[in-house]
Amino acid sequence: MKTAPSSIDMLGRLVGFDTTSRNSNLALIHFIRDHLAELGLESTLVPNAEGTKANLFASVGPEVEGGVVLSGHTDVVPVDGQAWTTDPWQLAEKDDGNLYGRGTCDMKGFVAACLAHVPAFQKAHLKVPMHLAFSYDEEIGCLGARSLAERLVGSVPRPQAVIVGEPTMMSVVNAQNAGGGLVATFTGVEAHSSMTHLGVSAIHFAGDFIHWLNELQEELATRRRGDIDTVPGHTTINVGIITGGTAANILARECTLNWGYRTLPDGDAWEVQRRAEKYIAELLLPKMRSKHPDANITLRRRSFVPGLLPQDNEEAAELALKWTGGNRTYAVPYGTEAGIFRGHGIPTVICGPGDISQAHQPNEFVARAQMDACDAFLDKMTAWAERQ
Ligand SMILES: [Zn+2]
Repeated sequence: MKTAPSSIDMLGRLVGFDTTSRNSNLALIHFIRDHLAELGLESTLVPNAEGTKANLFASVGPEVEGGVVLSGHTDVVPVDGQAWTTDPWQLAEKDDGNLYGRGTCDMKGFVAACLAHVPAFQKAHLKVPMHLAFSYDEEIGCLGARSLAERLVGSVPRPQAVIVGEPTMMSVVNAQNAGGGLVATFTGVEAHSSMTHLGVSAIHFAGDFIHWLNELQEELATRRRGDIDTVPGHTTINVGIITGGTAANILARECTLNWGYRTLPDGDAWEVQRRAEKYIAELLLPKMRSKHPDANITLRRRSFVPGLLPQDNEEAAELALKWTGGNRTYAVPYGTEAGIFRGHGIPTVICGPGDISQAHQPNEFVARAQMDACDAFLDKMTAWAERQ
């Protein structure tokens, strides 16, 4: 019998799949399914509507209530335009003790450690189950996690806790910001740029909207912080992509802004969208239409990631602190799939190897010591599951 791969061996395999969110993740999911099948473990695949991507879940141990869901996403952010000094799709360990490659930190490191522990889970006399739950499209709005959480919660007895293994340096995080992604589409009326009175520039009105967003962000930054402090401690707004226009001498017919915001865990997660809708309906669109009745603005929600509040997750935090040996919990400003699982009533915390400041960067890495710490965490979890 061949020896089981270590967490780092497994990380090497996973990094080799280019699972940038725009691509299918099926090659990676099939690899995991086949790997688990070799260990005698059956996986359930939950595909997207087009059949181009899938979530995977699998359970080890008895079919009883309790136990832990180990949650990770399989997609990674693009490497386009980033200056990598190594091949991002090949795991490279350097003398600094770091393991480089896209997704090492966010978050194939955790997924790899979970997979490498399956033989240990199987060997242990687990009194409660360990569930693996791997999703697609986290990086573009936690799209897969919704169907995964629904399916998992509907098909197994209620788990006791969910651990979302996003990079926290193995600290236990029990609060996160909420976040919304929106697309604003401005439709103008084309005209020669010397005849501005005949048309409406979609780009100029999109510019007005960006200016308004900046002012809104400044206003929200002056608000007193909530009880749960996530850096930078206030709502943040970002216009990430702007597209539009045809030529320098044509009033632009269309301009699209792909933008988003993040609010504090105990803040009003819908305020920014509400105020944007009101501003557009009451001020910006009437101003645009006063130039031409065919002008239009639409605001479409692209994604929503619910926040996470400590008081809802005490049980999971207590367990995770036992397994990390930590003595306090933390709050983070970024969104994860944790709020989605919490929405199904299961206490959830975030705890995984690597530093979030490495995520999405060129030369992304996870420290070997972090992978070791994650292994130790899973070992303690296994011992706990034997004692239940
Ligand atoms: Zn992530």
